[in-house]
Amino acid sequence: MSPKQLGIDSWPQNVAARLLDLSVDLSCVIGFDGHFREAAGDWEGLLGWTPTEMLSLSLTDLMYDADAVATFADLESIRAGSAAVRFQNRVRAKDGTLRWLLWTVTAIPVEQAYRAVACDVTPGHDAEALVLESERRYQDLIESAHDIVQSILPDGHFQFVNRAWHELLGYTTEELPGLTLFDIVDKVDHDHCTLLIGQLMSGMSFDSVEVTFVAKDGHTFPVEGNATGRFREGEYVATHTFFRDVSDRKQAQALTAAYQHQLEDEVAERSNINVRCGVSIDSLEGTDRLEGVLIRGGEGSGAAGSGAPELLPASALFVFIGASPRTDWLPPQVLRDSRGFILTGPALGDQHHQTADGDRDPFLYETSAAGVFAVGDVRAGSLKRVASAVGEGSVAVQFVHQVLRS
Ligand SMILES: Cc1cc2nc3c(=O)[nH]c(=O)nc-3n(C[C@H](O)[C@H](O)[C@H](O)COP(=O)(O)OP(=O)(O)OC[C@H]3O[C@@H](n4cnc5c(N)ncnc54)[C@H](O)[C@@H]3O)c2cc1C
Repeated sequence: MSPKQLGIDSWPQNVAARLLDLSVDLSCVIGFDGHFREAAGDWEGLLGWTPTEMLSLSLTDLMYDADAVATFADLESIRAGSAAVRFQNRVRAKDGTLRWLLWTVTAIPVEQAYRAVACDVTPGHDAEALVLESERRYQDLIESAHDIVQSILPDGHFQFVNRAWHELLGYTTEELPGLTLFDIVDKVDHDHCTLLIGQLMSGMSFDSVEVTFVAKDGHTFPVEGNATGRFREGEYVATHTFFRDVSDRKQAQALTAAYQHQLEDEVAERSNINVRCGVSIDSLEGTDRLEGVLIRGGEGSGAAGSGAPELLPASALFVFIGASPRTDWLPPQVLRDSRGFILTGPALGDQHHQTADGDRDPFLYETSAAGVFAVGDVRAGSLKRVASAVGEGSVAVQFVHQVLRS
């Protein structure tokens, strides 16, 4: 509604002024020259300028530079006869901080002035900025992920894909709008994907999806990942998938399977090798030397199922055990590597021990717990030999004495 329609410009000046005073928002009269003539409301609480200071200021003093052009253009249009205008801009508080104000301004030509009501909308902008920041971080994360991330619309086209998607599939951003999911999925998986999307549309989601992708140059590669349907107000709007290229793993698995097959074939061909899986050794038999091994259970043995022991003649027994440290009972202060071996000395990196005499590096073989030492097999990086375990123990004793003396 225009000021005319509102009748504001025909109101007696004292009525308009009183209404401005009553407003819970901030109100003011600003001359066409930009100087404040009146300022009602708690401007001081918001911007820190006292009422007297406000009247010595012009809009240019308050305005944040980046918003000045748009603001003055709005004011100019009101002055030229536009209806009351609402706009937002940032103004400077006395302490230099910026506040967002929502202005409603009308021009009163007879007074050569604008009458304006302003409302502080900074909190809304802060919240919006936080949401934008969080969205930006999320996008950065998706963009920098090594996984292939894609959002697929119900018609099969892509809503968005990440950098890894472009790198692995070889398509450019310009080519994306012309592609659908079925252009990047191997034909053998088309039915599987159609079925999958149907299930996603019905609200299911999948943690372990395996399909084969076809890159632009025609090469195929297996991917594994998860897929979820996205719904807005109950309506299916997109499918989000996160896939990882598992070519290397699949190749390694195939190689391992091939080697295992080869080994099994070679063992099967040798008449002097008899493989018995799943048995346990009950006892070793013999007088002066090993003569037999008493085993129990296992597939393919006469004793299978009955649990009865079976004596196998044997003159030698090789035992492959160890390499699994039993350190899980230790407190978390004693740091271990990913396999449970205890870290000591230089392996602790920059860690220091605090003592009465100040910080010191951990001693050789000293753990992350000051005064606690680890040697031998249980220590990360040790040689796993009797002689070295004994040697490490004798060295550690010297440091134990030093700790006790300190
Ligand atoms: C089958 C096999 C063959 C080997 N052959 C050789 C070889 O020919 N030459 C060679 O140099 N090295 C050989 N080794 C390696 C050698 O045995 C080890 O390097 C050496 O014994 C390490 O000594 P250690 O004192 O660190 O540990 P260990 O000898 O294992 O001593 C650790 C001791 O701590 C005890 N223990 C564990 N947990 C606890 C607990 N919570 N509370 C109390 N006690 C506990 C264990 O029962 C054990 O007695 C062989 C190892 C194996 C498994």
